[in-house]
Amino acid sequence: MTELEVLLQYQEVDGKLRGIEQKISSSDERKKYFSAKKFLEKASEKLEILDNKAVSLERSATALTKKYIALAKSLDEFAGLDDLVAQGADISFYKKQALSVSEQLKGIKGELSQIVSAVQAIQKEYAALKQQTITAQKQFKEYKVKYNEVKEGNAEEMAKLEKELAKIEKGADPQIMTKYKAKRREKIFPIIGKLRDNRCPFCGMDLPIALQSRLSDGKVIECDSCHRFIYKG
Ligand SMILES: [Zn+2]
Repeated sequence: MTELEVLLQYQEVDGKLRGIEQKISSSDERKKYFSAKKFLEKASEKLEILDNKAVSLERSATALTKKYIALAKSLDEFAGLDDLVAQGADISFYKKQALSVSEQLKGIKGELSQIVSAVQAIQKEYAALKQQTITAQKQFKEYKVKYNEVKEGNAEEMAKLEKELAKIEKGADPQIMTKYKAKRREKIFPIIGKLRDNRCPFCGMDLPIALQSRLSDGKVIECDSCHRFIYKG
């Protein structure tokens, strides 16, 4: 077998292997398995965000409580007001103070209602996340098994093809094989193609005369532009 024949045979068998790989990767089982997996991976991040929000709300509530306690204490000053006024204290000062306390109480009430709404929103988000997580967990478990079955169902055929490839590769140019495999990893296929109108069949680049003469000798050359391999039939 010539170098070219070996490479073409390799590519043909490799094409079959690639076909199986594509069939597996586009299978419903794989898609559902990975979508559930992704959701579960992100769920912990989402939960952390909710946790952080809850912690920050708790801090706000604590600060608000302190504010309220301080305010309640300031009301003690009003306890002996009757006596103070009887002794000639300025009533307008206490009026001003009472007004200020009333304003501050309004503020606390407003802040408190904001915290309550925020807590309710978090509870809602949390409940939704919990439900979605339960669904995703079920899907993950179910489709992990199904996806494995798809892989196992093709394993024998793939192993057979891989064995065949290893055998063919022994007769191939190692340098070309290294480059071939690199392209394959980049999901490029086919990698070896027949010259068409003196152009690369893949990217359409015009082949320099020097390269064309090498092709006439039955050699396989690498395209300068797309780095795939070209032969002349
Ligand atoms: Zn090319």
